[in-house]
Amino acid sequence: DGLADLVARFSPSAVADQMREAQYSFSLGDLRRAVAKRELVMHYQPKVTAHSGVMRGVEALVRWQHPELGLVAPASFIPMAEEGGLIDELTDFVLETSLKQLREWHARGLTISVAVNLSARSLSTPDLADRVAAVTSRIGIEPKYLLLEITETAVMSDLALSLGTLARLRLKGFGLGIDDFGTGFSSMQQLSRIPFTELKIDRSLVHGASEKPHLHVMLQSTIEMGKKLHLTTVAEGVENPSDWQLIRLLGCDVVQGFYVSKPLPGDALATWLKQGTQHLRPPRPSMG
Ligand code: C2E
Ligand code: MG
Ligand code: MG
Ligand code: MG
Repeated sequence: DGLADLVARFSPSAVADQMREAQYSFSLGDLRRAVAKRELVMHYQPKVTAHSGVMRGVEALVRWQHPELGLVAPASFIPMAEEGGLIDELTDFVLETSLKQLREWHARGLTISVAVNLSARSLSTPDLADRVAAVTSRIGIEPKYLLLEITETAVMSDLALSLGTLARLRLKGFGLGIDDFGTGFSSMQQLSRIPFTELKIDRSLVHGASEKPHLHVMLQSTIEMGKKLHLTTVAEGVENPSDWQLIRLLGCDVVQGFYVSKPLPGDALATWLKQGTQHLRPPRPSMG
């Protein structure tokens, strides 16, 4: 039985669990409790027009307010939620919370839209489009104010499987954004088959583009491709005025990034807006 014990302890799944715990310093059980106890919180990051810095919408980004670890970033628990079968519950929480926040903003005359991230796993859930439509109508938001972001790699990993869900969402009137674009290998032909409305260019192509000619070229052709496909083009990861200026000159529609604002809790975002967005005006091109 010593051997059996050893085999059990070092079975692939047990090793995977140990690695996960070591890596994350929390367990799937902790995360399950956090989702159930509503320890998850939403932050919202503005998306503003590249031309004049007017706020168009926000992206909803989930965080875990952990009692000991503090605010935990989504990259360290979303994969665990996906593997552990918690992602649908998490997505439902994110949708519900973000749409209620949006209803509050709309009631105060701020008619912006909200973008929610969907994981690859949710796309293969057959009833996703119906669930999204149900929560949106229950909270009283028109579909055009909700945009769903899906990463390029998630969509392309199983295009046949995702396509049905994405088409149903689009037919119901929701916006569809392709996220982190430029990190995968999708072709324009593949992209044109999916009813996307927005193209979000990954920050690896955006950050430092004003100083790096090879990024400049890729950025330019990506923006052009987005325009040819009639998509709203968004540059993420704008951290400095010179990148914003380049992006604006290349004709990109929307910018998002720390230079504009970090993701903020809902009430902090309202305060930020009240202060006025004059400071948001993009830098003018320098002369000479
Ligand atoms: P994403 O959807 O590409 O979101 C943008 C990420 O870039 C956010 O990280 C945001 O804080 C960060 N970011 C924004 N501006 C800048 C910038 O100027 N510089 C840099 N370096 N980073 C910037 P965050 O919040 O840590 O989220 C990471 C990823 O986790 C998201 O990437 C998204 O894929 C995933 N995620 C976040 N919330 C959710 C959610 O509710 N559901 C699902 N399924 N995934 C989520
Ligand atoms: Mg996103
Ligand atoms: Mg992104
Ligand atoms: Mg990302």
